[in-house]
Amino acid sequence: MLTLEDFLFKMSYRILNRNFFFCRNNRKGYWLKYLSPLILIFIFSVLTFHCRKEAVLESHAVPSHNQFQFYRPDLKTDAEIKKYLKSNLIFRFGLQSDPLLNYMKKLDGKEIYSFYSPTESDKKTIQFSIDLLPPLIKQNLQERVIGIYFINHFISTGYTDWVIGHDGKIYSVILINPDVFKMNVSEILQKREKTCFQSNSSSVKIKIHAGKQSAFDYILLHEAVHSADYSHRISDIDEESYNQIKPFIKRKFKPVDTIWNSSNTPYKHFDFQNRENISFYGFRKGPHLTLDQAPDLYADLQKSPFASLYGSQYKVEDLAELVTMYHLSIIQGNEYAIEISSPKIRMKIHPLQSQKVKKRISGIRFFYSVFPEK
Ligand SMILES: [Zn+2]
Repeated sequence: MLTLEDFLFKMSYRILNRNFFFCRNNRKGYWLKYLSPLILIFIFSVLTFHCRKEAVLESHAVPSHNQFQFYRPDLKTDAEIKKYLKSNLIFRFGLQSDPLLNYMKKLDGKEIYSFYSPTESDKKTIQFSIDLLPPLIKQNLQERVIGIYFINHFISTGYTDWVIGHDGKIYSVILINPDVFKMNVSEILQKREKTCFQSNSSSVKIKIHAGKQSAFDYILLHEAVHSADYSHRISDIDEESYNQIKPFIKRKFKPVDTIWNSSNTPYKHFDFQNRENISFYGFRKGPHLTLDQAPDLYADLQKSPFASLYGSQYKVEDLAELVTMYHLSIIQGNEYAIEISSPKIRMKIHPLQSQKVKKRISGIRFFYSVFPEK
């Protein structure tokens, strides 16, 4: 999508080129040859300044934790920020920030929160996971993620928040529960799935088969998709301040736009029974479902366009889960299946084999391209 800044740049470039041609044939034109670029640069600078001013003014309307300076007050000039965003990504993992910790403690009501510093072994896992990311996700991580923070006892596995930059662009911060370094993908997904159901005396058991690679591969990709989603403005989220950031140009994105009617409700023909009762980690006062309801729920999931129950909750989670599970299983060749068993039932579903999921895959290849950074 062409921004006003891009448009002005493109027009200035075209006029300049035409003017140089004109100057070759007209003596008076020599003045124009040297003056007009200066005039155009002046006009361009004024308009660009106006655009930036507008973005800065808009940034005052957003909460402090959604502003770049909240995380990195030490980076004051454009040059410092640009240099930081070009630096080795590995050093952005394991940052610490008192304002952030205090904000998260208050938000989640968890005084126990503290920062975790990754060990040398964790750093190897991190680098390995970065190297495996789809190209656009990796590029976005480098250019748009300010920091990745590890929080002990974090209420969920990960969380990504958007941040407005000095330049009006959308950046992100990622928070991760360091327990992921001790688990594999199957274990972390199994742990998460348990929180969707009340622990009653049901004989129904759920087992997730998603490979034995580090759970960090899963969470880094999932959270990094959220970051790319924000930067490329794929999903319109239910946050007034996010939607007020100008210019708001939502990217048309078929794999998401054709499924979701709103941020938490898919179009009727993609919805299924009890989907609105799905919740994880005790959010939305859950869990609301019993294990006895699990067989019907997973049978419906297999027929749906969603990659997981977690993804069926919200538009943003759907995109993160679809890209993550596609990359881990189809691209990297790990198994992805959910087994539901009881003395009476034995079923195994493969969500990515649903015809409705398969139809969405060509659209998410967008994340395998690379964009030139403006
Ligand atoms: Zn998520």
